[in-house]
Amino acid sequence: HHPDRSTVWVGKPGRQVPVGPGTFTFIAGPCAVESPEQTLEAATMAKAAGASLLRGGAYKPRTSPYAFQGLGRRGLDILAAVGEATGLPIVTEVVDARDVAEVAEQADMLQIGTRNMANFGLLQAAGESGKPVLLKRGMTATIEEWLMAAEYVAQRGNLDVVLCERGIRTFEPATRNTLDISAVPIVQTASHLPVIVDPSHASGRKDLVVPLSRAAIAVGADGIIVDVHPDPEVALCDGPQALHGPDLRALAQAVRQIPPLV
Ligand code: PEP
Repeated sequence: HHPDRSTVWVGKPGRQVPVGPGTFTFIAGPCAVESPEQTLEAATMAKAAGASLLRGGAYKPRTSPYAFQGLGRRGLDILAAVGEATGLPIVTEVVDARDVAEVAEQADMLQIGTRNMANFGLLQAAGESGKPVLLKRGMTATIEEWLMAAEYVAQRGNLDVVLCERGIRTFEPATRNTLDISAVPIVQTASHLPVIVDPSHASGRKDLVVPLSRAAIAVGADGIIVDVHPDPEVALCDGPQALHGPDLRALAQAVRQIPPLV
């Protein structure tokens, strides 16, 4: 019950970045923070491509328990230092309610991932963190369930929630998930909250990131969040979907070509 669509501001006073109507927010960075060098290189690439917020996973909720789980606290310190060095506010995932206070000390925005969309204790803790929340859609969640997850955050007094469509499970194996592009205008009608798109995790394929980003722009999304990596071949997490070089330049061009929004 909110008369106008909201803008969520991310970052420290004086450096805040808007996410919401009338603007298009480009968030980019490594899927996982692997080292200070890799993170700085990825952040520099992201900034040069036009990103205004830096993403990076320190706590990685991987499907396999044997896969790289992230650097945890050390990764958070690296991301915060790189955010400081590049002047980009940072967005990072929190996977456990017990870590929320610690992550919120350094992060400018808390990400709740697809696997935790219905982790209600985590949502409530994020609602009490005092930081904006990027709430990804659960990969098997309906739009209504996703909006109700946002209500769990809002109920604790935090209305600074940005929704992120990141693909849902379907029978189609050509992509890792199926980007539900129609969710963007549906959510914009049903809710006042900004909605962005994650073409990297939706597709799992770097060749689809630029076309899906164009689709997000065309459908009126409030932004995108994209994986970049200086050397995707050796990435510890999701290398096949990470952009660099010509792909990243093509994305930067697509974002620059967005017509003025009304
Ligand atoms: C991520 O953005 O790092 C991530 C793991 O995304 P998702 O939760 O959408 O899979």
